[in-house]
Amino acid sequence: MFRVGVGWDRHRLEPGRLCTLGGVRFADCPVGPLGHSDGDAVVHAVIDALLGAAGLGDIGRHFPDTDPAWAGADSLDLLARSRAKLAAAGWRVVNVDITLIAQRPTIAPRAAAMAAAMAGPLRVEPALVSVKGTSGEGLGPEGRGECVTALAVALLTEAGAAESGG
Ligand SMILES: [Zn+2]
Repeated sequence: MFRVGVGWDRHRLEPGRLCTLGGVRFADCPVGPLGHSDGDAVVHAVIDALLGAAGLGDIGRHFPDTDPAWAGADSLDLLARSRAKLAAAGWRVVNVDITLIAQRPTIAPRAAAMAAAMAGPLRVEPALVSVKGTSGEGLGPEGRGECVTALAVALLTEAGAAESGG
């Protein structure tokens, strides 16, 4: 059996914030996503896609931003925790496809690094994590560089007996 899920997340960009997207630090970016955690909209969208596919709710249910435990959280750690929740429910990740809409930073040169960063916590090959960037054509809040928005789709399949560990 397969299950598909979709995730969407948007974070405002503010000067002086560290910019981490898809688990990759953009050290040369003068703005970064505002958020209770590290504001990594890409990873958050992936988590929502995974949880949605498994019928497990959303990121806010599992990692509420009212809980100080998740203040400044590393989103890759939340991704690993989410994958463990899927495994406990009998699911494993087949592939993930992501579109990131951002005027800044520039995504394409770092897309492969983002895929590799997320593949570890997801326990899949990097080739099964697709990261695509688009600028927003100068339109809307993304195009004005005010925010980043990420869309993700995840496909899950039932974990076999040999694959359900961890
Ligand atoms: Zn978020």
